[in-house]
Amino acid sequence: MVTLPTYVQNAKRHISLSQDSTPNTYKAAYECLQSIKKIDDPAQKYDHEAAKQIYTKAETHSSKQQYDLALPLYYSLRETLNFSAMSLFRMAGLANIAGDAGYASVCFYKAFEIEPNLNRRLFAKEHSLHMHVYEKMDDRRAETCPLCGRAGRPYWCYYIGLRPNYPKSFNPVRTWMYCEPCHHLWSAEMTEYNEAEAPLLHTSVVTKANPGRFTAYSRILCSLREHAMGNALLEIGVGEGECISVARELLYDTTGIDLTKECVDYIKKTFQMDVIHGDFLTHPFEQLFDVIVLGDVIEHVRDPQAFIKRTAELSHKGTVLWVSTPSFESVYSLYLGHNDPMRREPSHCGYFSHFSLCSLLDAHGFDVIAYEVSAQYYGSMEVTAIKR
Ligand SMILES: [Zn+2]
Repeated sequence: MVTLPTYVQNAKRHISLSQDSTPNTYKAAYECLQSIKKIDDPAQKYDHEAAKQIYTKAETHSSKQQYDLALPLYYSLRETLNFSAMSLFRMAGLANIAGDAGYASVCFYKAFEIEPNLNRRLFAKEHSLHMHVYEKMDDRRAETCPLCGRAGRPYWCYYIGLRPNYPKSFNPVRTWMYCEPCHHLWSAEMTEYNEAEAPLLHTSVVTKANPGRFTAYSRILCSLREHAMGNALLEIGVGEGECISVARELLYDTTGIDLTKECVDYIKKTFQMDVIHGDFLTHPFEQLFDVIVLGDVIEHVRDPQAFIKRTAELSHKGTVLWVSTPSFESVYSLYLGHNDPMRREPSHCGYFSHFSLCSLLDAHGFDVIAYEVSAQYYGSMEVTAIKR
Protein backbone atom coordinates (compact mmCIF):
# COMPACT_ATOMS: atom_id res chain seq x y z
CA MET A 1 0.00 0.00 0.00
CA VAL A 2 1.52 3.29 -1.10
CA THR A 3 1.06 6.15 1.32
CA LEU A 4 0.12 9.21 -0.66
CA PRO A 5 1.95 12.45 0.16
CA THR A 6 -0.11 15.08 1.92
CA TYR A 7 -0.28 17.10 -1.29
CA VAL A 8 -2.08 14.27 -3.09
CA GLN A 9 -4.23 13.34 -0.12
CA ASN A 10 -5.42 16.91 -0.03
CA ALA A 11 -6.08 17.09 -3.74
CA LYS A 12 -9.43 15.35 -3.53
CA ARG A 13 -10.54 17.42 -0.62
CA HIS A 14 -9.50 20.68 -2.27
CA ILE A 15 -11.71 20.15 -5.26
CA SER A 16 -14.37 17.76 -4.02
CA LEU A 17 -17.48 18.24 -6.11
CA SER A 18 -20.98 17.61 -4.95
CA GLN A 19 -21.31 13.83 -4.76
CA ASP A 20 -24.82 13.90 -6.20
CA SER A 21 -24.43 14.35 -9.96
CA THR A 22 -28.11 15.18 -10.48
CA PRO A 23 -28.75 18.91 -10.06
CA ASN A 24 -31.92 19.77 -8.15
CA THR A 25 -33.49 21.22 -11.28
CA TYR A 26 -33.35 17.78 -12.95
CA LYS A 27 -34.53 15.73 -10.00
CA ALA A 28 -38.07 15.51 -11.39
CA ALA A 29 -36.74 14.28 -14.72
CA TYR A 30 -34.58 11.70 -12.99
CA GLU A 31 -37.51 10.39 -10.97
CA CYS A 32 -39.70 10.36 -14.08
CA LEU A 33 -37.10 8.19 -15.84
CA GLN A 34 -36.97 5.73 -12.97
CA SER A 35 -40.72 5.21 -13.19
CA ILE A 36 -40.57 4.91 -16.99
CA LYS A 37 -37.96 2.16 -16.65
CA LYS A 38 -40.43 0.09 -14.65
CA ILE A 39 -43.06 0.12 -17.41
CA ASP A 40 -43.02 -3.05 -19.46
CA ASP A 41 -46.35 -2.83 -21.27
CA PRO A 42 -46.13 -2.35 -25.04
CA ALA A 43 -46.77 1.24 -26.12
CA GLN A 44 -49.83 2.36 -28.03
CA LYS A 45 -49.20 2.91 -31.76
CA TYR A 46 -50.41 6.32 -32.87
CA ASP A 47 -51.35 7.41 -36.39
CA HIS A 48 -48.99 9.88 -38.02
CA GLU A 49 -50.91 13.07 -37.22
CA ALA A 50 -51.50 12.19 -33.57
CA ALA A 51 -47.86 11.16 -33.17
CA LYS A 52 -46.67 14.38 -34.76
CA GLN A 53 -48.67 16.40 -32.24
CA ILE A 54 -47.27 14.44 -29.30
CA TYR A 55 -43.74 14.77 -30.61
CA THR A 56 -44.09 18.53 -31.14
CA LYS A 57 -45.43 18.92 -27.63
CA ALA A 58 -42.48 16.96 -26.26
CA GLU A 59 -40.06 19.16 -28.19
CA THR A 60 -41.69 22.28 -26.74
CA HIS A 61 -41.40 20.97 -23.18
CA SER A 62 -37.84 19.95 -23.83
CA SER A 63 -36.87 23.39 -25.15
CA LYS A 64 -38.28 24.89 -21.93
CA GLN A 65 -36.23 22.39 -19.87
CA GLN A 66 -39.47 20.76 -18.64
CA TYR A 67 -37.82 17.39 -19.03
CA ASP A 68 -40.17 15.52 -16.70
CA LEU A 69 -43.05 16.58 -18.97
CA ALA A 70 -41.20 15.80 -22.21
CA LEU A 71 -39.94 12.34 -21.26
CA PRO A 72 -43.29 10.49 -20.93
CA LEU A 73 -44.40 11.96 -24.27
CA TYR A 74 -41.28 10.78 -26.09
CA TYR A 75 -41.62 7.43 -24.36
CA SER A 76 -45.21 7.01 -25.51
CA LEU A 77 -43.94 7.15 -29.14
CA ARG A 78 -41.39 4.38 -28.74
CA GLU A 79 -43.32 1.96 -30.90
CA THR A 80 -44.90 4.36 -33.39
CA LEU A 81 -43.52 4.08 -36.91
CA ASN A 82 -41.32 7.03 -37.99
CA PHE A 83 -41.18 8.46 -34.47
CA SER A 84 -39.68 5.71 -32.35
CA ALA A 85 -35.99 6.22 -33.17
CA MET A 86 -36.06 10.01 -32.92
CA SER A 87 -38.02 9.85 -29.66
CA LEU A 88 -35.52 7.42 -28.15
CA PHE A 89 -32.67 9.64 -29.35
CA ARG A 90 -34.24 12.64 -27.59
CA MET A 91 -34.85 10.57 -24.46
CA ALA A 92 -31.19 9.58 -24.42
CA GLY A 93 -30.11 13.22 -24.40
CA LEU A 94 -32.52 14.05 -21.58
CA ALA A 95 -31.58 10.97 -19.57
CA ASN A 96 -27.95 12.09 -19.68
CA ILE A 97 -28.89 15.58 -18.51
CA ALA A 98 -31.10 14.11 -15.77
CA GLY A 99 -28.16 12.08 -14.43
CA ASP A 100 -28.97 8.60 -15.75
CA ALA A 101 -26.15 8.01 -18.22
CA GLY A 102 -26.70 4.24 -18.22
CA TYR A 103 -30.24 4.65 -19.50
CA ALA A 104 -29.07 7.32 -21.96
CA SER A 105 -26.65 4.78 -23.42
CA VAL A 106 -29.41 2.16 -23.79
CA CYS A 107 -31.70 4.68 -25.55
CA PHE A 108 -29.00 5.95 -27.94
CA TYR A 109 -28.12 2.44 -29.09
CA LYS A 110 -31.77 1.41 -29.40
CA ALA A 111 -32.49 4.50 -31.51
CA PHE A 112 -29.74 3.65 -34.00
CA GLU A 113 -30.64 -0.02 -34.08
CA ILE A 114 -34.26 0.81 -34.91
CA GLU A 115 -33.25 3.32 -37.54
CA PRO A 116 -29.66 2.98 -38.84
CA ASN A 117 -30.34 5.94 -41.15
CA LEU A 118 -31.12 8.25 -38.22
CA ASN A 119 -28.38 10.66 -39.31
CA ARG A 120 -30.65 11.71 -42.18
CA ARG A 121 -32.99 13.22 -39.62
CA LEU A 122 -30.21 14.64 -37.46
CA PHE A 123 -28.17 16.39 -40.16
CA ALA A 124 -29.03 18.61 -43.10
CA LYS A 125 -28.45 17.22 -46.63
CA GLU A 126 -25.17 19.08 -47.12
CA HIS A 127 -23.66 17.66 -43.92
CA SER A 128 -21.02 14.97 -44.44
CA LEU A 129 -22.77 12.60 -42.02
CA HIS A 130 -26.24 12.98 -43.56
CA MET A 131 -25.90 9.75 -45.55
CA HIS A 132 -23.79 7.93 -42.97
CA VAL A 133 -25.53 4.71 -41.91
CA TYR A 134 -25.00 3.35 -38.41
CA GLU A 135 -23.43 -0.07 -38.23
CA LYS A 136 -23.23 -1.95 -34.98
CA MET A 137 -19.58 -1.92 -33.96
CA ASP A 138 -17.78 -4.94 -32.71
CA ASP A 139 -16.83 -3.15 -29.51
CA ARG A 140 -14.96 -4.43 -26.57
CA ARG A 141 -16.80 -2.79 -23.68
CA ALA A 142 -14.44 -1.39 -21.07
CA GLU A 143 -16.47 -1.76 -17.91
CA THR A 144 -13.58 -1.67 -15.45
CA CYS A 145 -11.34 1.20 -14.38
CA PRO A 146 -8.02 1.33 -16.28
CA LEU A 147 -6.29 2.52 -13.09
CA CYS A 148 -7.50 -0.02 -10.52
CA GLY A 149 -9.58 -2.66 -12.34
CA ARG A 150 -12.71 -2.06 -10.27
CA ALA A 151 -16.13 -1.97 -11.94
CA GLY A 152 -17.30 1.53 -12.83
CA ARG A 153 -20.66 3.15 -13.41
CA PRO A 154 -21.89 5.24 -16.37
CA TYR A 155 -21.26 8.92 -15.66
CA TRP A 156 -22.07 10.71 -18.94
CA CYS A 157 -23.30 9.52 -22.31
CA TYR A 158 -23.25 11.57 -25.53
CA TYR A 159 -23.84 11.15 -29.22
CA ILE A 160 -20.40 12.02 -30.60
CA GLY A 161 -21.45 12.01 -34.25
CA LEU A 162 -22.13 15.71 -33.76
CA ARG A 163 -18.37 16.39 -33.51
CA PRO A 164 -16.93 17.76 -36.76
CA ASN A 165 -13.92 15.40 -36.62
CA TYR A 166 -15.93 12.27 -35.82
CA PRO A 167 -14.24 9.32 -37.56
CA LYS A 168 -16.97 7.24 -39.18
CA SER A 169 -15.27 4.02 -38.12
CA PHE A 170 -15.88 4.91 -34.45
CA ASN A 171 -18.91 4.08 -32.43
CA PRO A 172 -21.17 7.18 -32.48
CA VAL A 173 -22.17 6.74 -28.83
CA ARG A 174 -19.69 7.58 -26.10
CA THR A 175 -20.39 6.36 -22.56
CA TRP A 176 -17.99 7.79 -19.98
CA MET A 177 -17.54 5.46 -17.00
CA TYR A 178 -16.60 6.63 -13.50
CA CYS A 179 -14.53 4.95 -10.81
CA GLU A 180 -15.29 6.48 -7.46
CA PRO A 181 -12.19 5.37 -5.50
CA CYS A 182 -9.89 6.61 -8.31
CA HIS A 183 -12.06 9.63 -9.14
CA HIS A 184 -11.39 8.87 -12.81
CA LEU A 185 -13.33 8.64 -16.09
CA TRP A 186 -12.82 6.41 -19.14
CA SER A 187 -14.66 5.55 -22.31
CA ALA A 188 -16.69 2.32 -22.25
CA GLU A 189 -16.61 2.16 -26.05
CA MET A 190 -13.32 0.70 -27.22
CA THR A 191 -13.71 0.40 -30.95
CA GLU A 192 -11.66 -2.33 -32.55
CA TYR A 193 -9.92 -0.11 -35.05
CA ASN A 194 -7.46 -1.40 -37.62
CA GLU A 195 -3.81 -0.34 -37.93
CA ALA A 196 -4.51 2.30 -40.57
CA GLU A 197 -6.95 4.00 -38.23
CA ALA A 198 -4.75 3.79 -35.13
CA PRO A 199 -3.52 7.39 -35.47
CA LEU A 200 -7.14 8.54 -35.22
CA LEU A 201 -6.95 7.77 -31.55
CA HIS A 202 -3.87 9.88 -31.16
CA THR A 203 -4.44 12.91 -33.31
CA SER A 204 -7.65 13.97 -34.97
CA VAL A 205 -6.14 15.69 -38.01
CA VAL A 206 -2.58 16.71 -38.74
CA THR A 207 -2.94 20.43 -39.09
CA LYS A 208 -0.35 23.22 -39.07
CA ALA A 209 1.61 24.01 -35.95
CA ASN A 210 0.02 26.79 -33.92
CA PRO A 211 2.64 29.55 -33.52
CA GLY A 212 0.62 30.99 -30.64
CA ARG A 213 1.86 28.05 -28.56
CA PHE A 214 5.58 28.77 -28.97
CA THR A 215 5.74 31.34 -26.18
CA ALA A 216 3.61 29.22 -23.83
CA TYR A 217 5.96 26.26 -24.32
CA SER A 218 8.99 28.50 -23.91
CA ARG A 219 7.75 29.59 -20.47
CA ILE A 220 6.95 26.01 -19.47
CA LEU A 221 10.29 24.60 -20.69
CA CYS A 222 12.26 27.39 -18.99
CA SER A 223 10.54 26.69 -15.69
CA LEU A 224 11.16 22.92 -16.03
CA ARG A 225 14.84 23.66 -16.59
CA GLU A 226 15.04 25.21 -13.13
CA HIS A 227 14.28 21.78 -11.62
CA ALA A 228 16.15 19.60 -14.15
CA MET A 229 19.50 17.94 -13.40
CA GLY A 230 20.51 17.77 -17.05
CA ASN A 231 19.63 18.72 -20.58
CA ALA A 232 18.20 15.54 -22.13
CA LEU A 233 14.52 16.07 -22.97
CA LEU A 234 12.03 13.51 -24.27
CA GLU A 235 8.66 14.53 -25.65
CA ILE A 236 6.12 11.73 -26.10
CA GLY A 237 3.50 12.47 -28.75
CA VAL A 238 5.03 15.50 -30.43
CA GLY A 239 1.98 16.26 -32.59
CA GLU A 240 2.67 19.24 -34.85
CA GLY A 241 5.97 19.92 -33.08
CA GLU A 242 5.36 23.22 -31.26
CA CYS A 243 6.93 22.04 -28.00
CA ILE A 244 9.83 19.95 -29.31
CA SER A 245 10.94 22.68 -31.74
CA VAL A 246 10.89 25.31 -28.99
CA ALA A 247 12.88 22.92 -26.74
CA ARG A 248 15.52 22.69 -29.44
CA GLU A 249 15.66 26.48 -29.75
CA LEU A 250 16.22 26.59 -25.97
CA LEU A 251 19.20 24.23 -26.53
CA TYR A 252 17.73 21.16 -24.88
CA ASP A 253 19.09 17.86 -26.27
CA THR A 254 15.77 16.76 -27.72
CA THR A 255 14.25 13.37 -28.50
CA GLY A 256 10.69 13.30 -29.80
CA ILE A 257 8.45 10.39 -30.73
CA ASP A 258 5.01 10.12 -32.34
CA LEU A 259 2.81 7.31 -33.65
CA THR A 260 1.58 9.35 -36.58
CA LYS A 261 3.83 9.33 -39.63
CA GLU A 262 2.26 12.52 -40.99
CA CYS A 263 3.33 14.41 -37.84
CA VAL A 264 6.90 13.16 -38.14
CA ASP A 265 7.04 14.23 -41.81
CA TYR A 266 5.44 17.60 -41.07
CA ILE A 267 8.02 18.40 -38.35
CA LYS A 268 10.90 17.39 -40.59
CA LYS A 269 9.65 19.61 -43.39
CA THR A 270 8.61 22.59 -41.26
CA PHE A 271 11.19 22.71 -38.48
CA GLN A 272 13.97 20.72 -40.21
CA MET A 273 13.98 18.42 -37.24
CA ASP A 274 14.08 14.63 -36.93
CA VAL A 275 11.72 12.91 -34.53
CA ILE A 276 11.12 9.18 -34.13
CA HIS A 277 8.14 7.55 -35.81
CA GLY A 278 7.16 4.79 -33.41
CA ASP A 279 5.37 3.57 -30.33
CA PHE A 280 6.73 5.00 -27.11
CA LEU A 281 5.78 1.87 -25.17
CA THR A 282 7.96 -0.42 -27.27
CA HIS A 283 10.65 1.83 -28.78
CA PRO A 284 14.15 0.85 -27.50
CA PHE A 285 15.44 4.17 -26.14
CA GLU A 286 19.16 4.03 -25.33
CA GLN A 287 19.24 6.60 -22.53
CA LEU A 288 17.35 8.01 -19.56
CA PHE A 289 16.02 11.55 -19.70
CA ASP A 290 16.27 14.59 -17.42
CA VAL A 291 13.00 16.09 -18.59
CA ILE A 292 9.99 14.22 -19.99
CA VAL A 293 7.07 16.05 -21.57
CA LEU A 294 3.63 14.46 -21.93
CA GLY A 295 1.64 17.26 -23.54
CA ASP A 296 -2.03 16.36 -23.99
CA VAL A 297 -1.32 12.76 -24.91
CA ILE A 298 -2.29 10.59 -21.94
CA GLU A 299 -6.02 11.14 -22.59
CA HIS A 300 -5.50 9.33 -25.90
CA VAL A 301 -4.12 6.11 -24.40
CA ARG A 302 -6.16 3.14 -23.25
CA ASP A 303 -3.70 1.98 -20.63
CA PRO A 304 -2.41 5.01 -18.71
CA GLN A 305 -0.80 2.70 -16.12
CA ALA A 306 1.49 1.19 -18.76
CA PHE A 307 2.21 4.64 -20.14
CA ILE A 308 3.35 6.16 -16.85
CA LYS A 309 5.21 2.96 -15.93
CA ARG A 310 7.23 3.29 -19.15
CA THR A 311 7.79 6.98 -18.40
CA ALA A 312 9.19 6.00 -14.99
CA GLU A 313 11.50 3.43 -16.61
CA LEU A 314 12.99 6.18 -18.77
CA SER A 315 13.51 8.45 -15.74
CA HIS A 316 16.27 8.64 -13.15
CA LYS A 317 16.08 10.05 -9.65
CA GLY A 318 15.45 13.75 -10.22
CA THR A 319 13.86 13.51 -13.69
CA VAL A 320 11.28 16.24 -14.18
CA LEU A 321 7.99 15.06 -15.67
CA TRP A 322 5.50 17.53 -17.10
CA VAL A 323 1.98 16.32 -17.91
CA SER A 324 -0.81 18.30 -19.51
CA THR A 325 -4.23 16.66 -19.91
CA PRO A 326 -7.89 17.67 -19.72
CA SER A 327 -9.41 17.48 -16.24
CA PHE A 328 -13.07 16.44 -16.18
CA GLU A 329 -13.57 18.64 -13.15
CA SER A 330 -11.65 21.63 -14.49
CA VAL A 331 -13.33 24.92 -13.92
CA TYR A 332 -13.71 25.19 -17.69
CA SER A 333 -15.52 21.83 -17.98
CA LEU A 334 -17.84 22.72 -15.10
CA TYR A 335 -18.52 26.11 -16.67
CA LEU A 336 -19.48 24.60 -20.05
CA GLY A 337 -21.31 21.62 -18.57
CA HIS A 338 -22.89 19.43 -21.23
CA ASN A 339 -21.58 21.76 -23.93
CA ASP A 340 -17.97 20.94 -23.10
CA PRO A 341 -16.59 19.61 -26.43
CA MET A 342 -14.24 17.28 -24.52
CA ARG A 343 -17.22 15.10 -23.58
CA ARG A 344 -17.77 14.39 -27.28
CA GLU A 345 -14.13 14.08 -28.33
CA PRO A 346 -13.87 10.79 -30.25
CA SER A 347 -10.11 10.36 -29.91
CA HIS A 348 -10.00 10.59 -26.11
CA CYS A 349 -10.05 7.35 -24.10
CA GLY A 350 -10.12 8.76 -20.58
CA TYR A 351 -10.22 11.84 -18.37
CA PHE A 352 -8.21 12.42 -15.25
CA SER A 353 -9.00 14.54 -12.25
CA HIS A 354 -6.44 16.36 -10.15
CA PHE A 355 -6.69 13.42 -7.75
CA SER A 356 -6.45 10.54 -10.24
CA LEU A 357 -3.51 12.06 -12.11
CA CYS A 358 -1.51 12.88 -8.97
CA SER A 359 -2.26 9.42 -7.52
CA LEU A 360 -1.10 7.68 -10.70
CA LEU A 361 2.12 9.69 -10.82
CA ASP A 362 2.75 9.04 -7.15
CA ALA A 363 2.22 5.30 -7.59
CA HIS A 364 5.01 5.28 -10.19
CA GLY A 365 7.46 7.22 -8.05
CA PHE A 366 6.81 10.82 -9.07
CA ASP A 367 6.33 13.55 -6.46
CA VAL A 368 4.01 16.26 -7.74
CA ILE A 369 5.44 19.71 -7.11
CA ALA A 370 3.12 21.97 -9.10
CA TYR A 371 -0.39 22.11 -10.54
CA GLU A 372 -1.59 24.81 -12.94
CA VAL A 373 -4.57 25.52 -15.15
CA SER A 374 -3.35 25.39 -18.75
CA ALA A 375 -3.06 28.73 -20.50
CA GLN A 376 -3.20 27.20 -23.95
CA TYR A 377 -5.73 24.36 -23.79
CA TYR A 378 -9.03 25.26 -22.16
CA GLY A 379 -9.90 22.62 -19.57
CA SER A 380 -6.42 21.10 -19.31
CA MET A 381 -4.38 20.88 -16.13
CA GLU A 382 -0.59 21.05 -16.12
CA VAL A 383 1.24 19.02 -13.51
CA THR A 384 4.97 18.99 -12.79
CA ALA A 385 6.48 16.07 -10.87
CA ILE A 386 9.94 14.87 -9.87
CA LYS A 387 11.07 11.21 -9.87
CA ARG A 388 12.12 10.15 -6.41
ZN1 LIG B 1 -10.34 2.92 -10.31
